[in-house]
Amino acid sequence: MRVHAYAAPAAAAPLAPTVIERRAVGANDVLIEIKYAGICHSDIHTVNGDWGLQPYPVVPGHEIVGIVAEVGADVTRHRVGDRVGVGCMVNSCGRCVNCRNGDEQYCLEGMVPTYAGTDRDGTVTQGGYSTHVVVDADFVLSVPEGIDLAAAAPLLCAGITTYSPLRHWGAGPGKKVAVVGLGGLGHMAVKIAHAMGAEVTVLSQSLKKQEDGLRLGADHYHATGDPDTFERLAGRFDLIVNTVSARIDVDAYLGLLAVDGTLVNVGAPGEPLSLNVFSLIGARRSYAGSMIGGIAETQEMLDFCAEHRFGADIELISADQINEAYQRVLASDVRYRFVIDTATLG
Ligand code: NAP
Ligand code: ZN
Repeated sequence: MRVHAYAAPAAAAPLAPTVIERRAVGANDVLIEIKYAGICHSDIHTVNGDWGLQPYPVVPGHEIVGIVAEVGADVTRHRVGDRVGVGCMVNSCGRCVNCRNGDEQYCLEGMVPTYAGTDRDGTVTQGGYSTHVVVDADFVLSVPEGIDLAAAAPLLCAGITTYSPLRHWGAGPGKKVAVVGLGGLGHMAVKIAHAMGAEVTVLSQSLKKQEDGLRLGADHYHATGDPDTFERLAGRFDLIVNTVSARIDVDAYLGLLAVDGTLVNVGAPGEPLSLNVFSLIGARRSYAGSMIGGIAETQEMLDFCAEHRFGADIELISADQINEAYQRVLASDVRYRFVIDTATLG
């Protein structure tokens, strides 16, 4: 099946319209008519080669929502007409200890990323900036009624990437949680941590988005551009979720943790970060990382968001605005996720 898409033809090249091939629907596959695709900063890292060279041309997009158009003979969980989503992975071995524990994202054989990965049949995966995709049914999520479909798209990456560490490190009543960076991931972290009952603080470069941060559910908002912030908040937080796409001063943020506190990096800059071990030793602190979440956990997150009646705050764009949207994300000028209306793809 040949479908319209937007691809980066080479590293750091502007995205342009193209046509790609989707595989025939196998017995355990679902054909999805994609309605909306979110733009994640990881798409930009990939296109720009920040994480190394990729198999170009690459069609990015791993925040996919749409409607089931066809199912294979063995598929029972999804039916034609269902509202569904696909996130950052489309397959994993299914047998290793991590897959069996529901942590498919940490598959020992390597999960198959939704784009720029090698699928089990040896082909290169292509992502959601397209009109249709064929995905193994086990990696297709149900989007509950009660979340607007376009606003649900960013949950498939930004939502689960923040939900998973917030759950893992026990965000909830009595916990002080800070979110560094109020972009796509950051604004979801604020909404989710607030819904979990934690006391939420935003640490943003400036106070420009303070009103938004408080509306999204934050209790406090501070500018990291103000050096006083790091003195005033020293030793305060149980958990800090760092969503920044660039290098940060890790020691400065570790200093904001209480005894036994954890700084978890979900932000994924290409360059190494460094720290002084005394920032950890001095208060039995941990520095951790976390990548998306498992499939069952992603469904749990979607149901959690539906129960609390929120999706992402989005700006819906047409395909010809993708390159401009990339520039705006790079300039931290996103409120708070760009979502492509795939009806405009061609
Ligand atoms: P985003 O929308 O661009 O948000 C990042 C935010 O970080 C910006 O809005 C900005 O917030 C802050 N920021 C940007 N540059 C900064 C700088 N130089 N210094 C300090 N703060 C800066 O990006 P996103 O889509 O949320 O993704 C964030 C990062 O997470 C990316 O690196 C992405 O690849 C990664 N990611 C990881 C996973 C995972 O599984 N671990 C999943 C998805 C994405 P303020 O304006 O508020 O300061
Ligand atoms: Zn992403």
